[in-house]
Amino acid sequence: MAHVGLMGGTFNPVHNGHLIAAQEAMFALKLDKVVFIPNFIPPHKRPYHLLPCRSRLEMLEMAVAGNPLFEVSDIEIQRGGLSYTADTVRALKEAYPENEYSFITGADSVLNFKWMYFEELLEMLNSFVALTRPGFSMDALKEKASLYKGKDKFVFLDIPGTDISSTDIRRRVAEGKPFRYLVPDLVREFIEKNSFYK
Ligand code: ATP
Ligand code: MG
Repeated sequence: MAHVGLMGGTFNPVHNGHLIAAQEAMFALKLDKVVFIPNFIPPHKRPYHLLPCRSRLEMLEMAVAGNPLFEVSDIEIQRGGLSYTADTVRALKEAYPENEYSFITGADSVLNFKWMYFEELLEMLNSFVALTRPGFSMDALKEKASLYKGKDKFVFLDIPGTDISSTDIRRRVAEGKPFRYLVPDLVREFIEKNSFYK
């Protein structure tokens, strides 16, 4: 049996804020590992600047290389269509009934988006972890969380805030501004070599 943390997102591109968040959640919940799951089609975003899923997956693999407790899964890419977290967790629990799962998010995720099958998702999880993220109110999030039937599944975590976002990185690349140290070096080199986000 393992307690597995899942972190879903577009990862367009993955950045150090994601890695720090995963690390903090792993420590706080004593997770055995964290699996990063890139969306195939993100349900909430306009896909204008979305890189192909294979490139986002490849960057994630570079980002976790060297940390044996971080993994990447292509389960949402394989499934295709809109990537709903509840479908992913249901499939994982069917495939690995011996594991328990906690889902890791930044404070913006529940505040800004309407999640499909959210109550069912909470029911399937050990915990739904919400981490502080600069610019987003934890109090507002706590208020929203208190309205859900599965509110007891929420775990709120204060982490060293990193004001890093993929949106800002894409903008920096397009404007020729530095983005070194915001993403792992291999990811930066891959973005530069392929002229992504120009
Ligand atoms: P974008 O700007 O394109 O939305 P992003 O930086 O928000 O990108 P996502 O792939 O949307 O990254 O996020 C995946 C998950 O990681 C979400 O739950 C999000 O809240 C969380 N996350 C991303 N950046 C941070 C951060 N700096 N601190 C805490 N959580 C973060
Ligand atoms: Mg985001």
